[in-house]
Amino acid sequence: MSSTILPLIRAAASAIREHADEVTALDQATGDGDHVINLQRGLAVLETQLEVLGSLDWASALQKIGMSLLSSVGGASGSLYGTLFIAMSKSMKGREMNQANLAEAFAQGVEAMKARGKADRGEKTMLDVLIPVADALKSAVEQALPLPQTLDEVKRAAEAGMESTRGMLATKGRASFLGERAIGYIDAGARSSQLMISAIAEVLAGSAS
Ligand code: ADP
Ligand code: MG
Repeated sequence: MSSTILPLIRAAASAIREHADEVTALDQATGDGDHVINLQRGLAVLETQLEVLGSLDWASALQKIGMSLLSSVGGASGSLYGTLFIAMSKSMKGREMNQANLAEAFAQGVEAMKARGKADRGEKTMLDVLIPVADALKSAVEQALPLPQTLDEVKRAAEAGMESTRGMLATKGRASFLGERAIGYIDAGARSSQLMISAIAEVLAGSAS
């Protein structure tokens, strides 16, 4: 049962809603300004599916989320987020949700996204958040960190990764058209992914304590 997914989707949606103007301004500075609209279209679809998502096992819920995002988000981020969740679903098949399996699934999802977008860390994209988060999850499992510390490490990694994009030259996506003019701006997708990950981590920390 993936019923714990419901507050996580709501938390991600409200984090984007609360920071919509800020993230839009970032995408206007280095992209075409539609990133928040794209994401909100996907999150709104997920919010209409909360009941059915909650009734599915984790692999099926992640698959459905991926398919919904693929067909609703659009932009570069739509196919990339779709790919992330579908690969996570494959990894979770037949497995229970725990820290080790989540770390493995997230790492698989990020690898699939890297392949889909032919991008890696250091190119001023959301991968600069997602890769360090995958690494933080993996190292927390290796150190057998309890959930609250794991979540702190995840939030720290996401924030540091998001901040790191400010000084980067973009080599993928629309921001790459700007060359050096994109330097000085945080990448919109890095900020939105950090906001959603931190919001999800906070909900999980609340339910763990
Ligand atoms: P579009 O750029 O098509 O308008 P969005 O505005 O929804 O799409 O998303 C832009 C975000 O997508 C960027 O801020 C960046 O983080 C991310 N992005 C773009 N290209 C890639 C890529 N190849 N790999 C990973 N993330 C990418
Ligand atoms: Mg855009």
